[in-house]
Amino acid sequence: MRCPRCSGLDDKVIESRSLAAGESIRRRRQCLHCGYRFTSYERIEEKQLMVIKSNGRREPFDRSKVQRGIQRAVEKRPIGQSTVDLVISEIEDEAAMKGLPHHEIPAREIGEMILSQLYRIDRVAYIRFASVYRNFSTVEEFVNEIETISEGKQSRSDSHREKESEDRQYELYEDMSSLAAEGLEPPTERI
Ligand SMILES: [Zn+2]
Repeated sequence: MRCPRCSGLDDKVIESRSLAAGESIRRRRQCLHCGYRFTSYERIEEKQLMVIKSNGRREPFDRSKVQRGIQRAVEKRPIGQSTVDLVISEIEDEAAMKGLPHHEIPAREIGEMILSQLYRIDRVAYIRFASVYRNFSTVEEFVNEIETISEGKQSRSDSHREKESEDRQYELYEDMSSLAAEGLEPPTERI
């Protein structure tokens, strides 16, 4: 910390004290250049990120929900746990950034982030997730998606379906989790 008297950047902590039941810490510091003593406070800046669901309700961001959805999609695929963990962390960080300044983000956006990440790491996992997420109702839709992928682009700009499925998109985040929670196979397992 910059010394308020001489602007030196080196100091030592003389004493630390926890305040308000551990929510903040007060530190007494001494400048190593001029010896001036000053106090700093440290507290957690981040507010809880809230997820806005399709019904407008908000719930705290739950990393384990994202994890269950992804875990299910990559099941039996050659993808290491460290890759899965990294992807989840990237989604969590991206969600936290996108959620600023109000610390809230639509569930739909989290679903889209999961899709983007899966698309990057494994096309089969992507297709599994997308088929639940986008709620393909016909074989044709499914084939279209696979063809689009083969051509090397995501069908994210498919505005026709985009609009109509927006509400369903919200729910995948939920659906994938509840499937996993119940130990059921998502319908996409038939692929
Ligand atoms: Zn100083």
